[in-house]
Amino acid sequence: MESSVWDNALKLLKFDSNIDIVTYESILCKMTIAHSDNDVLVLAARDEYSLKLLKGQNLNKTVEDAIRTANDGKSLAVKFILEGDDKARDASVNSEKKVLRQAKSEVTTPNGLNGEYTFANFVVGDCNRFAHASAVSVAAKPGQKQRNPFFLWGNSGLGKTHLMKAIGNAVLEQHPDKKVIYTTCEAFTNAFVATIQNKNYTEFRNKFRTVDVLLIDDIQFLIGKDSVQTEFFNTFEALIEAGKQIVITCDKAPANLTQLDNRLTSRFQDGIMFDVQPPDFETRKAIFLSKLENENFTLSDEIIDYVCENVTTNIRQLNGAFNTISSYITLANGELTLDDIRKIVDPLITGNKKYLTPDIVINAVANYYDLTPDKLTSKLRSAEISTARNVAMFICRDYLELKYEKIGQIFGGRKHTTVMHGCDNVDEDKDLKKQAEEIYRLIT
Ligand code: ADP
Ligand code: MG
Repeated sequence: MESSVWDNALKLLKFDSNIDIVTYESILCKMTIAHSDNDVLVLAARDEYSLKLLKGQNLNKTVEDAIRTANDGKSLAVKFILEGDDKARDASVNSEKKVLRQAKSEVTTPNGLNGEYTFANFVVGDCNRFAHASAVSVAAKPGQKQRNPFFLWGNSGLGKTHLMKAIGNAVLEQHPDKKVIYTTCEAFTNAFVATIQNKNYTEFRNKFRTVDVLLIDDIQFLIGKDSVQTEFFNTFEALIEAGKQIVITCDKAPANLTQLDNRLTSRFQDGIMFDVQPPDFETRKAIFLSKLENENFTLSDEIIDYVCENVTTNIRQLNGAFNTISSYITLANGELTLDDIRKIVDPLITGNKKYLTPDIVINAVANYYDLTPDKLTSKLRSAEISTARNVAMFICRDYLELKYEKIGQIFGGRKHTTVMHGCDNVDEDKDLKKQAEEIYRLIT
């Protein structure tokens, strides 16, 4: 990547509605490039506070979009680290390269499958038990009417693609004569658009209408594409008619795919449907342990539980945490402590209160009122400092849900009643309450 790309991306970010002017001027503009190649750009923040703000606001995506525009449409992964933290830099680069290698090995096979996602490495838990059992049956006997189509839906990162590919791989293993194709709906669409241009319909139809099992991933991508929907409908009808198996994934239940042609959504409901749910703690832990076993390293129970208790939204995120930790382990010469793990994991827990610490609040409040953070935890009692301290304590009480005793300890050993009065002062003052809200928004 040329260094001018970042300069041009910055110009775009200045006008991005996701970024407020303070973040832009005091953080983004002051970042330096810690590493850059054709895949990854690692940007370094000057201090821990800026880094937490960037990660807390989840700005990678916004910055990645700007980079893509500035880089002639070529995308790069963007990572944020602390300036001078070479370990974090190398870990970010390594974990990104690993993800890229995995993705690349997927797309290069003609049928879209490479044996990586199987039933054997799919962990079964309450969140996916029925979907998994039914998927195993589909793979054993593809094309049976009561399970055709097989429709899996649920949020991103919960294992739909994995389960779908596991069906494909299991069919190939159990029925080597069967023809299986895995395609994303996006790839299907692109292939069809190319077909319209070169008018080679025969080739397209030969490819998709002669399979025994068609796995089509992320069908919601058909929304708003009428001619592709019609072609897909015809493919669907031809395959079902011939007793061939169709497996579909989607981010919504068929009944909620209201923007899709209802001929399609009603056909989807003729087969069998499952939703995959977010994983419960036991499933998360089982997945995490199986990863540890695969990569042949160990972590203390305390660390494993910390990660699995806190990275809760989806399995992709859990894998991300695992990859990052595994890169650190490789680089760290000693053991990783729970504190190290917190530094790695907490920024991944976005939108989660646990991620916000009193330190972040104190820094942000001090910054807002133009004071130094130590004043807020000191014994000083000038009006200006007391007010700022009250606001910080109020945020700790109402947003972080900390107890009075705990807040008292953090703010220089104050009494329970002192903290309570301080918080109540803010609660009763419309302006101060508004400022507290504003500061909270800034740090989340
Ligand atoms: P989706 O298609 O629902 O967005 P994916 O199938 O791509 O999610 O899953 C995201 C990641 O999580 C993949 O790396 C996948 O292997 C992993 N994963 C998901 N569910 C499980 C599971 N039950 N056991 C093991 N790994 C899983
Ligand atoms: Mg998927």
